[in-house]
Amino acid sequence: MPREALRGRGFKGAITMIGDEPHPPYERPQLSKAMLLSADAPVAYIKQPRDWNEALGVRLETGTAATDCDADRRIVSTADGRSFAFDRLLLATGTRPRRLAALDGGPLHVQYLRNVEDALRFRRHIAARARIVIVGGGVVGLEAACAAAKSGCLVTVIESEPRLLARAFPASVSALVADRHRSHGVQFVFGSTVTGSTSHSVRLGNGTEIPADLVLAGIGVTPSGDLATRLGLPSADGIAVDANGRTAVSDVFCAGDAALQWSRCHGRAIRVETWANAQNQAIAVAANMIGEINAYNAPPWFWTDQYDLDIQVVGDMRDADHIARGDPASAKFSIIAVRGTEVVGGLAVNAAKDMAMLRRIIAANAKPSRGDLESPGYDLQTALRSQ
Ligand code: NDP
Repeated sequence: MPREALRGRGFKGAITMIGDEPHPPYERPQLSKAMLLSADAPVAYIKQPRDWNEALGVRLETGTAATDCDADRRIVSTADGRSFAFDRLLLATGTRPRRLAALDGGPLHVQYLRNVEDALRFRRHIAARARIVIVGGGVVGLEAACAAAKSGCLVTVIESEPRLLARAFPASVSALVADRHRSHGVQFVFGSTVTGSTSHSVRLGNGTEIPADLVLAGIGVTPSGDLATRLGLPSADGIAVDANGRTAVSDVFCAGDAALQWSRCHGRAIRVETWANAQNQAIAVAANMIGEINAYNAPPWFWTDQYDLDIQVVGDMRDADHIARGDPASAKFSIIAVRGTEVVGGLAVNAAKDMAMLRRIIAANAKPSRGDLESPGYDLQTALRSQ
């Protein structure tokens, strides 16, 4: 976290953290995991407000939207009419959920899952064993489907692609995850989306109606770039940064879901919408804000829990050859993505040890041979020893 990293590196100056949510910073992964799986799981606050202030000397401005920014005068203005001067500015504005225009404002309630209030609301619905339609078979949709199915809800997931998590998962893993959900009663509609609603159903493009008390939309996110725009920075695809997290405006940095940064695994600039990136990129950028020069190039990594499946993905699995390790039938295996001589991605199902090695191999750009990777007894650690 940048503010902790700044103090950890001995920065003695003033730090102000401005956020529009009414809460002090909290861990978002819990919103679609622990907070939905247990009726009394608390919000995972990173620290209590007093600790930010007293222990870290950070001025926390919650419930305060930053609405304008003047790079020449070095001032951030907030919706309540205040101004905050800065020498260095970090844009950690993240993303907001894409809206489901076809149902917004319609007779059936549509909700999103991005903040504490959303998670608490959805938890109340699943406790009531509602009929739930989830639009989007991505990470939000599938983690919410797990929790709702476990609570005894009737769950239908509608995904526009022909399979689940098509950007991150090979087809075999999409199928495995879909099967696990079906065995818990979840139904899927692929290659379709919703076009309208009544007070008790949603309508699909082909006219089919699906009964529903609530719709949860998890159809992706868009970067929150309003402040960047005020600074003259393009932000439709994210806020472009160099390897050190610097934007094109002097002394303005960006980290987290909104930052658009080069990724070797992908061979292009991408935004990384993961908890690990929000944590580690921010730490690297914080150091750069106080004069260190730290290139940040950790490969993107995320995990998702789907019933008994612990699934972790690193790097980029697309447009690559896939090499399988382990035993898919026992749901304990990994898949390595290789492009040319480079390992560019990895996916592990209940194989955390393989994932730990693959993350290190990709970060180090180690180049084990395909023959070695294909050999069932090959110890992945060997690839690192030869570095
Ligand atoms: P994702 O991008 O993961 O998935 C959205 C899915 O919905 C995609 O498959 C998308 O297809 C599909 N879709 C898009 N539009 C429609 C539509 N109109 N009808 C039906 N399907 C549609 O986004 P999520 O909303 O699931 O997640 C949002 C954010 O939360 C992400 O930043 C994610 O990383 C983060 N998150 C991460 C978790 C984790 O790491 N475990 C857990 C929960 C959230 P297409 O790809 O074609 O657009």
